[in-house]
Amino acid sequence: MDKLSYASESPNTAWSTYLQQIDRVAPYLGELSRWVDTLRHPKRALIVDIPLQMDDGSIRHFEGFRVQHNLSRGPGKGGVRYHPNVDLNEVMALSAWMTIKCAAVNLPYGGAKGGIRVDPFKLSEGELERLTRRYTSEIGLVIGPQKDIPAPDVGTNAKVMAWMMDTYSMNQGTTITGVVTGKPVHLGGSLGREKATGRGVFVTGREVARRLNIETDGARLAVQGFGNVGSEAARLFVAAGARVVAVQDHSATLYNAEGIDLTALTDWQATHKNIAGFSGAQTIDAEAFWQLPMDILIPAALEGQITRERAEKLSCKLILEGANGPTYPDADDMLASRGITVVPDVICNAGGVTVSYFEWVQDMASFFWSESEINERMDKIMSEAMIHIWDKAREKECSLRTAAYIVACERILMARKDRGIYPG
Ligand code: NAD
Repeated sequence: MDKLSYASESPNTAWSTYLQQIDRVAPYLGELSRWVDTLRHPKRALIVDIPLQMDDGSIRHFEGFRVQHNLSRGPGKGGVRYHPNVDLNEVMALSAWMTIKCAAVNLPYGGAKGGIRVDPFKLSEGELERLTRRYTSEIGLVIGPQKDIPAPDVGTNAKVMAWMMDTYSMNQGTTITGVVTGKPVHLGGSLGREKATGRGVFVTGREVARRLNIETDGARLAVQGFGNVGSEAARLFVAAGARVVAVQDHSATLYNAEGIDLTALTDWQATHKNIAGFSGAQTIDAEAFWQLPMDILIPAALEGQITRERAEKLSCKLILEGANGPTYPDADDMLASRGITVVPDVICNAGGVTVSYFEWVQDMASFFWSESEINERMDKIMSEAMIHIWDKAREKECSLRTAAYIVACERILMARKDRGIYPG
């Protein structure tokens, strides 16, 4: 294939992880493999400069991105990340994983992602709002309810989405709620959206655990990342009888073989903004997390967490990828050789984009559903998609990740093939 001049060739970047995942699926695609290079080329990447007047009167410049990886199946869909490590390579990979994810669940979307290289915790609320509004104006050229629909990701939330929706609407001269999802419920947001990703991790985990004869009742669970995704997935597993023995976030690693009281930990986090200092568990060394006795592991923090070395130490039977891209390809091989099943990110954490899709549909129709309707519809879509991928993995004798990529890539490349190349 023709290499991209702007993509790093380092093997440890998120984009190279994605490319290796595409290399692994290509041999399964038959005649469609003629089109597979389209997945190795993001359709469009926008880099924007965001000048920001700080509260002290100084002016700083931040780098922002919006990448639309593939739009063959519909408008772009994907979150906006505010984090100091954001760069073009990471946003490209995250946008590509959105392409795969939306197709794996059969949502009528392509994949996109955006971000700003910034530590949002170091900005005042006023600075954050001005940053968000300028970023939205800069990417206003390429977003829109029929073009590309942003949503929250790490470092952004419903309030940021409200500013994005308002800025886009002001620039267009009319209120357009469907331009972003993950908004506050009173501004066209959907009930159930905030907890949807964690709920989807639970639903897909439940289906796979059942098929592997792993009892969730009494299972020992370890969770990396106690944010939106990790905390909700853990809560639902506890409701199903599991015991959370370990929790790690950026501030600390906690261990309690008897089970950590999640309600108490959630209350602690609400006050302290992280889990450090919580007294209901022992604080251990961060690296020791990977060799604790556990049955199910949920990585729900950032990408690139499960290296080959860590994969060698893990004692769990099942990994549920709440985070995007937490496992390196060589770690995937190690896990497979050790009989550890991985439910890949592109299906495991797709509950969020599924309910984002419901939010967009509700905004278009201006007709809103109850939370129980949303949860039931999400459970049905996610469990059916998971079972389809499980069956595909059995048929092709491959991992669940490769099976998810086969299902998704067939859908994307079929659309690409039938649309043809313009101009012909
Ligand atoms: P969040 O900001 O709410 O929580 C992130 C958590 O990760 C925090 O507890 C943080 O302390 C922890 N963390 C950060 N760096 C860490 C490190 N180096 N070691 C250990 N823990 C660390 O974010 P979130 O919305 O829960 O997203 C988590 C992951 O799930 C990301 O990969 C995101 O892309 C993915 N995801 C999120 C959604 C969603 O709807 N929020 C949807 C799909 C995928």
